[in-house]
Amino acid sequence: MIEVTPNKPDGSAYPVKIDEAQLQKQLDPLSYEVLRKGGTEVAFTGEYTDTETIGVYKCKACHSELFRSDTKFHSGCGWPSFYAPTKDDAVILLEDRSLAPRIRTEVRCANCGSHLGHVFEGEGYAVPTDQRWCINSVALVLEAKN
Ligand SMILES: [Zn+2]
Repeated sequence: MIEVTPNKPDGSAYPVKIDEAQLQKQLDPLSYEVLRKGGTEVAFTGEYTDTETIGVYKCKACHSELFRSDTKFHSGCGWPSFYAPTKDDAVILLEDRSLAPRIRTEVRCANCGSHLGHVFEGEGYAVPTDQRWCINSVALVLEAKN
């Protein structure tokens, strides 16, 4: 299991402080489990896995912008996949050794520290960055562009 801490890896606080009790009341149990306990939604069950709606994906806990639909692609992996975040500093990356010896790179919201998913590189997808940002649907809110 991943530990979602109130501070960044460098020890400084996230700009948005999450009120855990409040957020837990606000969200469904799975969203809370993923965002604040580092859980994972079951593959191919997420609401945004194959969504092609044009818009902006925001953090479900703090509503900061994380991804845009123009970097979303069909990876076939069962979770929404992007090839880049909105901005490099929209997210924070951490080393995740929970499946050791396999070491993965965990992706968290840079604004509130909530767990979003993982990023993988060099898998050969035909995308500009050769990265797959594998993000849980329940960690996101899609704001469709009209
Ligand atoms: Zn957030």
